[in-house]
Amino acid sequence: MDRSSSYSCPKSKSRVLNKFFLCALLGRAYARPFFLPNKSEFEMKLIFFFGLCCFVLTSKAADNLILVSIDGLRWQEVFQGYQDDVLDLETFKEQKAGLVKQFSGTNAESKRQKLMPFLWNVLAKEGVLIGNRKLGSQMQVTNGYWFSYPGYNELLTGKADPNIDSNKAIDNPNVTILEWLNKQSQYQGKVAAFGSWDVFPAIINRTRSGLPINAGFESADWAGLSDKAQWLNTLQTQIPSPWHNVRLDAFTLGFTKEYILAHQPKVMYVSLGETDDFAHQGNYPEYLRGANRADKFIAQLWTLLQSMEQYQNNTNLIITVDHGRGDSAQSWQHHASPKAVKGYLNGLKQYQDGIPGADQIWLAAMGPDVKGSVESQQTSDFSLDQVAATAVQLLGFDYQQFATDIGQPLPIIKQR
Ligand SMILES: [Zn+2]
Repeated sequence: MDRSSSYSCPKSKSRVLNKFFLCALLGRAYARPFFLPNKSEFEMKLIFFFGLCCFVLTSKAADNLILVSIDGLRWQEVFQGYQDDVLDLETFKEQKAGLVKQFSGTNAESKRQKLMPFLWNVLAKEGVLIGNRKLGSQMQVTNGYWFSYPGYNELLTGKADPNIDSNKAIDNPNVTILEWLNKQSQYQGKVAAFGSWDVFPAIINRTRSGLPINAGFESADWAGLSDKAQWLNTLQTQIPSPWHNVRLDAFTLGFTKEYILAHQPKVMYVSLGETDDFAHQGNYPEYLRGANRADKFIAQLWTLLQSMEQYQNNTNLIITVDHGRGDSAQSWQHHASPKAVKGYLNGLKQYQDGIPGADQIWLAAMGPDVKGSVESQQTSDFSLDQVAATAVQLLGFDYQQFATDIGQPLPIIKQR
């Protein structure tokens, strides 16, 4: 990838420098009244005051944030590419050669690059990746269930809720960061969510939050629908989805792009879902291709955002998941905790101890306020409940304004 197209171009620096010169100029003009021939104490105080202004202005956070989740995509594929133990199963005999041709490499690094080229050719060179357990970097969910609604609640509220113990579309009693941000003056009407799964209007509590959410098989219905958005509405009724409650991610991506062009939200949440559903079907080839498509979709969103004045060099990106999956060739398609198999997921009760590994997750981030520490080499232990605070903090708020009893921000934010 051409580094010149990267986000850290001179624009943000010139923005900062302009503010610096403006402050310096104002500082001089106001701090040197004609009747004061020498620097008085008063003048020194003014200079200090304007210096402080400069500091505050130049340390401003990026205005925009895009949070993307890829449902149940394992860290194993993200950090190592396709897994031989799964692909070697008899059931994938026919497809193996094609997949090896598409996604193979000489080592884990080149395999993962083929599977998720945006993540490894762009994001990894500028941002941060957490969750490669081979390097001692660990991240997991803190909720006791290891499936989607409890995971998305934890992701978006910063706290596990033991009462959210099913995937039923029950309105979330907890306030998400999206709902909270939409109440802050500078983000009012500038927050939107898009999801492939039809439970998101409940997870984000559309009834209470009033947020624009397009999820499941909902048509786009916002003001100023483009021809493309209308075309997507039509196609969505004509192309069958493999699942009754999850649409293909291409629609979620398409609607997100059209909404960005029409309404320029400052905070976007995009939830992709194909990976999880293909995995549940035991379809490893499509799970892999779903991961590859998710990577391409995120690349498209990033390219679109960087082509627009509002977002260019002024947007942070976070990518993560709601849960992991089983860590073996026998269990990769499932996810559930020991507690979940005794309750909502009792269809998996033959796994008395739950699905080992399904609590293991990962996160990737980049943008003007994200540290460029590349793939975390340090032994670390982070959790999903830290993402909400990280997101709020990346927008320049103290996360404790949102909530005080949630996971702390991940140490990936640049000092401002
Ligand atoms: Zn699932």
